[in-house]
Amino acid sequence: MLSIIVPCYNEEETLPLFVKAVNQVNQQMGETLEYIFVNDGSKDGTLSVIKDLYRQQPEAVRFISFSRNFGKEAALYAGLQAAKGEFVTVMDADLQDPPELLPEMLRLIREEAYDCIGTRRIDREGEPVIRSFFAKSFYRLVNRIGQTEMVDGARDFRLMTRQMVDAVLELTEYNRFSKGIFSWVGFDTKYLAYENRERVAGETSWSFWSLFKYSIDGIVNFSEAPLNIASVIGGISCLGSLVALVFIVIRALVFGDPTSGWPSLVSILLFVSGLQLLCVGIIGKYIGKIFLETKRRPVYLVKETEADLVVKETDPSF
Ligand code: UDP
Ligand code: MG
Repeated sequence: MLSIIVPCYNEEETLPLFVKAVNQVNQQMGETLEYIFVNDGSKDGTLSVIKDLYRQQPEAVRFISFSRNFGKEAALYAGLQAAKGEFVTVMDADLQDPPELLPEMLRLIREEAYDCIGTRRIDREGEPVIRSFFAKSFYRLVNRIGQTEMVDGARDFRLMTRQMVDAVLELTEYNRFSKGIFSWVGFDTKYLAYENRERVAGETSWSFWSLFKYSIDGIVNFSEAPLNIASVIGGISCLGSLVALVFIVIRALVFGDPTSGWPSLVSILLFVSGLQLLCVGIIGKYIGKIFLETKRRPVYLVKETEADLVVKETDPSF
């Protein structure tokens, strides 16, 4: 069985198109499908669209509806936990992840014994230039400072074996950054490249700012480099000021002190206290992560699943 996990946030327009496209591809593949739609607190009619899809194909559709929006990472986690298939794939609802790749991915994983087939976009057609620039810089940075390699342009769209899914589920952390997690667990992964697609309908739910915060999370969750950089900067400025102090004291003793140096003093003070605030901020970011992690809150809360629907529709007392 092939499980298809679909995180959905305000996807009422795209979902029927998505299911149609995947069912069409499956006509050649002939797999037993298990759709797992994770409704991530959508504000539009996504849930009722999902319920309609369930009524059309009750043997193939399952769903999990969250009590509010918990984010795509939480939706992916919920889907992976619920999936029962021998192979599991994760796909966006907007058809930016082409279902036509599925037969080739399945073939590679079955015949060439890969554990995971990932996908990556070879270009960023149709994306704002600034966004592409920051995305590229993010990957360059994170691959340089982190131990976990992240492939530029890699999508969350991937096909995994049961063994790899179980490994991913062993990482029960609260702060989830899937691109890092998938890479951290290891296993043999092959990337298929394809040209970028635009969304079939609806709108992206990522603003520039939310992507920026997401990338900071990616760095903080998988690298200690910012902390090291903070200590190195602290060390260097400490050493530098010590040398300067010795120089100034000797100069004052030998030549007296003819200049009143307060402008330079104030700038140096500002600079150094700025550095301190920056470093405290970096440390704070990590402490924040620890804080959230130690609370051990659930990653998501479920309000309704297809099992509730079955009860409601067969039990007249509801
Ligand atoms: N998504 C989600 N929760 C969120 C935001 C997005 O489940 O809070 C889903 C969304 O429905 C879609 C996928 O994540 O299936 C990717 O989102 P989107 O297409 O908006 O992102 P982009 O492709 O622009 O990166
Ligand atoms: Mg998209």
